[in-house]
Amino acid sequence: MRIDFLTVFPEVFTPLNYSILKRAREKGCVQYQVWHLRDFARNTHRQVDDAPFGGGRGMVLMCEPIFLGIDEIKKHNPDGYVILTSPQGRLFNQQLALNLSKKKGLIFICGHYEGVDERVTTICDDEISIGDYILTGGELPAMVMAEAVIRLLPGVLPEGAADKDSFYQELLDWPCYTRPAEFRGLRVPEVLLSGNHAAIKKWRRQQAEKRTKERRPELYQQYLQKREVQNSGGDYE
Ligand code: SAM
Repeated sequence: MRIDFLTVFPEVFTPLNYSILKRAREKGCVQYQVWHLRDFARNTHRQVDDAPFGGGRGMVLMCEPIFLGIDEIKKHNPDGYVILTSPQGRLFNQQLALNLSKKKGLIFICGHYEGVDERVTTICDDEISIGDYILTGGELPAMVMAEAVIRLLPGVLPEGAADKDSFYQELLDWPCYTRPAEFRGLRVPEVLLSGNHAAIKKWRRQQAEKRTKERRPELYQQYLQKREVQNSGGDYE
């Protein structure tokens, strides 16, 4: 997969050089390019923002450099699915990450200041929010989404590793422990030290169900419904 980011703050994208994101690129699972929006400004001061028509607060990213930037990026990522980062978009979640991981390419437009000229939405395939709160710019949202997608790409994580995480099968993950077996009187549950794999599997499933029920009751309801449909032999969408 190829992922492009169009931004006024390319410096923010350093996380691409660390950990899984770095290894995914080194393994050839993904290619990134960060584009500076100012490189597409057609005025002497390389201005990319201006005051809103009608007056009011803040500055708005102009449509011209964004259109020109996307024209150029599309030459390198012709099948790139164009996503506008926006608190007004549909909410990002694990299912959406999974859907995006099946695209050939992604192109993120990072808003800033008061946002982007509304005409930019005409060249976007999607408008996505990472949550009901306001951030200064779309750089962190774009990286959050890219990271969630990249770890789902074939070859990035060991086979089957991602589908044990929270939100798979509508369950949160079970509690994990590592050495030492006892620390300041806090003991690891005996079953995990027993070597009995069937008992460990059963305990983990029970713990996952218990914490999902306590912490995310709405997710737990979805899990129960899905299980009911599967038990009755139906397909669950
Ligand atoms: N005036 C806008 C509003 O109230 O909807 C907020 C603009 S925000 C300060 C600037 C940019 O940050 C947005 O254009 C968007 O790209 C990004 N952004 C902020 N919060 C976001 C969120 N929750 N999800 C995705 N992008 C976000």
